[in-house]
Amino acid sequence: MHLKPVIAANWKLNHSPTDAKAFLQRFLAQSPKLNERTLIFFPSAITITTVIEGLRERPDVWVGVQNVHSEAQGAFTGENSVLMARDVGARVVLVGHSERRHVFGETDAITTKKMALIAQARLTAMLCVGETLEEREAGRTASVVERQLTAGLAELDDAQVASVMLAYEPVWAIGTGRTATPEDASEIHGVLRRALVSRVGEKVAAGIPILYGGSVNRGNASLLLAAADVDGLLVGGASLDADSWASIVRA
Ligand code: PEP
Repeated sequence: MHLKPVIAANWKLNHSPTDAKAFLQRFLAQSPKLNERTLIFFPSAITITTVIEGLRERPDVWVGVQNVHSEAQGAFTGENSVLMARDVGARVVLVGHSERRHVFGETDAITTKKMALIAQARLTAMLCVGETLEEREAGRTASVVERQLTAGLAELDDAQVASVMLAYEPVWAIGTGRTATPEDASEIHGVLRRALVSRVGEKVAAGIPILYGGSVNRGNASLLLAAADVDGLLVGGASLDADSWASIVRA
């Protein structure tokens, strides 16, 4: 099955509401509805309402949150809830981004809980997996991403797995300017696809988009997107500039 590519922008801790307004004005002026792409923005929680409002005329563009807490509510100062994300109009939640795992110490057990909460809230989860340079050099890439995938899907039933998106983001490629080659990306996307096939069968697995992320830019986006089993792109740094982003979404 050939999936409609999903092109997602992870703004991380960038773009205030004021920046986001200026970004959208510039981006929307040069990017009419693209039937052949699903676009997603992941702004910060503070900026998300501005982005949702700015895209009111563009329901084809999805907006998501970069993180939610592993409990739906309670005494967790500073956190954001999946229920609040849904209430504000978010459709997707990023889970297990490498910065969550490696800067904030998010474990596989935490991603298991978050994925279950997101599924219960009927939002789409985009589960990120990826190996560190050390793990790659030790030949452990496949086992690391398989372990992260298994943990992420552990508490989901097959119907819930069917609505998940995955992103393969090698840690050594994020924000470093070093990109996986299209062949490397294909190889690991193939590992993930086979793991999905054994979990939910061929037909469902074929419908789950697997995005590549890690120093994607307007120069390498189309080659990466053309690689086998690459169904989309998750873009950090190069999504911050409206012109660069507008050319990546057309890749
Ligand atoms: C990311 O944050 O998901 C990412 C891929 O960042 P960058 O494109 O900057 O490497």
